[in-house]
Amino acid sequence: MPLDLRRSWADPDLDTYRDAVARFVATEMQPHDEEARKRGHVGHALWRRAGELGFLCADIPETWGGAGGDFRHEAVFYEEMARRGLSGMAASVHTIVAHYLLNHGSEAQKARWLPRMARGELVGAIAMTEPGAGSDLQGIRTRAERAERGGVAGWRINGSKTFITNGYLAGLVLVVAKTDPAQGARGTSILAVETEGCAGYRVGRVLDKIGMKAQDTSELFFDDVFVPADHLLGGVEGQGFFQLMSDLPYERLIIGVIALAAMEGAYEATLAYVRERKAFGKPLAEQQNTRFELATIATELKVGRAFVDQCVHQLLAGTLDTATASMVKLWASEAQGRVVDACLQLHGGYGYMNEYLVARLYTDARVQRIYGGANEIMKEVIARAL
Ligand SMILES: Cc1cc2nc3c(=O)[nH]c(=O)nc-3n(C[C@H](O)[C@H](O)[C@H](O)COP(=O)(O)OP(=O)(O)OC[C@H]3O[C@@H](n4cnc5c(N)ncnc54)[C@H](O)[C@@H]3O)c2cc1C
Repeated sequence: MPLDLRRSWADPDLDTYRDAVARFVATEMQPHDEEARKRGHVGHALWRRAGELGFLCADIPETWGGAGGDFRHEAVFYEEMARRGLSGMAASVHTIVAHYLLNHGSEAQKARWLPRMARGELVGAIAMTEPGAGSDLQGIRTRAERAERGGVAGWRINGSKTFITNGYLAGLVLVVAKTDPAQGARGTSILAVETEGCAGYRVGRVLDKIGMKAQDTSELFFDDVFVPADHLLGGVEGQGFFQLMSDLPYERLIIGVIALAAMEGAYEATLAYVRERKAFGKPLAEQQNTRFELATIATELKVGRAFVDQCVHQLLAGTLDTATASMVKLWASEAQGRVVDACLQLHGGYGYMNEYLVARLYTDARVQRIYGGANEIMKEVIARAL
């Protein structure tokens, strides 16, 4: 009996949607992945194509140019990429940026940026981390000060950010900055920077990572970057931390969803491999160790699927709390590490070769325990809620 990997939140309409997404991913993204890995980014054309097909901002209301779906539609897109080891297009971060605008932006900010994001014309990035501050975001040093340019009131931004997903291709960067350093959390705000032709804005290196090679993770520099006053997210100064906190359950569940899909991709590839590969006169699949490893992996998939699906239902119902979302991020990213590692081992030396899916899944998996709030921070958040 094949392992039933069906989601409890699926329905026939969503299955049809998944077929369309899978077709796009398999025929228009996958064939160019090797090239994108060498280049360090997927290019603007792919973003625009995904936008044209309605796969970006799938859960943003149609009023703002989105597809008017819900989190399930978002999940389907991430899953179809993740199971194939396609980590170049960080549609998840793009959507997270769109959600900051949707949940906290003014009507004018939503009207200005969301439709262009949904069309893939503006790639979104969120810039929190700095060389000196990651987990402890209170320590950021990027500064935004009130300023005026040509009679227009606004903000002048100075500082630098690192590890920024979509950083090279981003057309819209939400920058977390101190607007009042004396105030701690209340002195932090989020400012939107439109990068095209923006004086003082510079993209540094596309960083050389051990995995996610097609993903443009970059350094960003802000040297007297001026943005008009209406680029302050939500229009009220000092709200940055509260805006960041309120969207955490959504962001952490995305990491859980991606982890499970990557585990499923690794499992399926491994099952096919061990049935084919022979050693000592029989397929690897018939060795007791292989069977036991697969049994353990299949069990992890079942357990993980139950938890992730429960969280998806809770998110849809608006009841997913930050501690539970931190648990799903923690558990799923740790399980992803265990499962993908075991799958690689079952491939032997071939598992270490980049041309094999399992090798790419392995190097991509490691960062899931680090970003989105490192897993140690997840434990802090969970422990505080006990
Ligand atoms: C590929 C990639 C993409 C990323 N994308 C983005 C992005 O789009 N935008 C963005 O802003 N950032 C992004 N990041 C940054 C990421 O969120 C940070 O790397 C992460 O939050 C950890 O911060 P740090 O690297 O400064 O590590 P540190 O905060 O220095 O932590 C180092 C270690 O110490 C542990 N630690 C820290 N504090 C505690 C504590 N209180 N108790 C116990 N242990 C602790 C951490 O868990 C970690 O193991 C990305 C990172 C990577 C690698």
